[in-house]
Amino acid sequence: MATGGGSPPGDSLEAEEFKPSSSKSSVGIKGQQKQQIVYAVTPMKTCPHLNSVAPVPSEGFNVQSPCKTCSDKNENWLCLSCYEVYCGRFIHQDMLLHNQNTGHCVVLSFADLSVWCYACEAYLDNSVLNPILESAHRQKFGEERPGVDLELMNA
Ligand SMILES: [Zn+2]
Ligand SMILES: [Zn+2]
Ligand SMILES: [Zn+2]
Repeated sequence: MATGGGSPPGDSLEAEEFKPSSSKSSVGIKGQQKQQIVYAVTPMKTCPHLNSVAPVPSEGFNVQSPCKTCSDKNENWLCLSCYEVYCGRFIHQDMLLHNQNTGHCVVLSFADLSVWCYACEAYLDNSVLNPILESAHRQKFGEERPGVDLELMNA
């Protein structure tokens, strides 16, 4: 019977494996594409009816004006052709009637200061409208902010 000697101590040096650092940067993230449905109403830069917009009359206009037809004060629009004020479609649609009666189609909302063209059924954003919008904005939100006067205090 041969008795096996003691097994030699296993002194196997385990060389540490250095993995080459693989620096693969994954470009592009998978599976994160959210589908965004945005009904953004992008204003048109221009429309064929912009030339019907009259300059602000010298007496100006008043964003507090009531509807010329029904005197409602809640949701009025300013006709930018004749500067008459009529109420919107959620009141009595008097501006819509004005549009149908006169063909004036570019109107300014006193509610949110957007400019709408009935003919194009689109909002408008054109520099021609700036003086009108500035005047309306000033009335609606008060005076333009006065410049802050910083007095120099010499210590
Ligand atoms: Zn009205
Ligand atoms: Zn008009
Ligand atoms: Zn238009």
